[in-house]
Formats: sequence, C-alpha cells, structure tokens
Amino acid sequence: MRKAPDRILLATGNQGKVREIRRLLAGVDIELPSLVDVPAAPELSEPHSSFEANAVYKACSAARATGMYAVADDSGLEIDALDGFPGVASSRFAGPEASDADRIAAILERMRGVPAENRAARFVCVAALCAPAGDVAVWRGTCEGVIAEAPRGTGGFGFDPIFFVPSYRQTMAEMPLELKNRLSHRAAAFAQVRRDLAAATLPFRRPGRGCAG
Ligand code: IMP
Repeated sequence: MRKAPDRILLATGNQGKVREIRRLLAGVDIELPSLVDVPAAPELSEPHSSFEANAVYKACSAARATGMYAVADDSGLEIDALDGFPGVASSRFAGPEASDADRIAAILERMRGVPAENRAARFVCVAALCAPAGDVAVWRGTCEGVIAEAPRGTGGFGFDPIFFVPSYRQTMAEMPLELKNRLSHRAAAFAQVRRDLAAATLPFRRPGRGCAG
C-alpha cells in the first residue's frame, strides 16, 4: 500500500476517452492532464494481441517518456456471432485510414442477415496505471449489448451508434454521457480505479510483461 499520486497523465489521443475518464474520476483529488498538455508526449501504438498487454504498453510508454504516473485503456468490441471479432483489433481491422463510420459500416456488413437473437456483443475495457518506476496495476470492465441493424444517435464515439443496450432500449450514442458513464465497460473498469485511488490501495505489481521496450 502506498499514497495515491496527485497527478496522473491520461495516456490516450482519443478525446472521447479523455472526456469520459475525467468524468469517471471526477471528485478524486488528482490532477488529470492529457497528452495534449505535456510536451514529451509519445506516439502510442498497440503492438500486442491482448487488451491487457496493449493497455500496459501504452501506460508504460507514456510514464517512461514523461516521468509521470500514466493511465491508459485498451478497449474494443467483441461480437459473439463473429467469434469475438473485432476484439483487440477493433481500431485497426478496417485499415489505418478508416473512420468510425467506416468501421461501423464494415461491422454491419459482416452482421448482415444475422438474426436479432444472435447479435449479442460486449464492450471490453482494460485500464492500466503505470508508475514512473515501472510498477503497473490493471483493472478490467465489460458491458453487454446487442449489435443494432443500423446506426442510431450522435453522442459518444466509436461503435456507440450500433451498440444497443436492451435494458435502456437505446444505443450508447443515444444516451446522455452521464448514463453511458454509469453502464459502460470503461465505467466498470474506472470505478475500480477510482475506488483503489481513493483508498490508496493500488494493486501494483513489479515492472512486468508488456512494460519492457
Ligand atoms: P482503442 O482502445 O483506442 O484501441 O479503441 C478500440 C476501438 O474500439 C476503437 O475503434 C474505438 O473507437 C472503439 N471503442 C473503444 N471504446 C469505445 C466506446 O466506449 N464506445 C464505442 N467504441 C469504443
């Protein structure tokens, strides 16, 4: 057990994630600059084949480049009818130039003709916090839903317009951010981050897999 840091870098270039994580950690007395606020910000790649390894890699790259505590998440969509695709390749499967709209269109094309009862999917989020000395802590959250037949809503980002949450009869892009931030995979992961930061009981392990290099 150790004291929680008073400043943690949000190691993501995705402004949708920055917005959500700041809200999810609001009220914890920790300053949360993002990559646009720090001069030595690294380019963050995702070279690994698991959410955890990529989250650790991104957090550790940012901590090493800046000397700060850094938190990163790696997240994605797992569709049961596609055997978990696109999974850890969620941001890359449609090519480097693809937009969110292109990725949504590619998913809907693969899901064409799949009946409603077989459209189950989940969002997965793994959050990693890396200390300047290289220790890492990891948390995981998921959110269950269904792939919609067509995009709906303008909020959120990424796959939110096709991620339908049956209990609210809305896609994540139709929800106010407050509601998404109660239900989402990122909310589930960062609720644990928040709890452990508030209690200063961060589950650090020594520099490990994914941290090197
Ligand atoms: P990454 O975590 O930045 O690698 O993102 C993986 C992919 O999943 C990207 O295409 C994101 O837009 C998408 N994604 C991650 N989180 C969410 C979310 O909360 N809603 C919708 N799409 C998401």
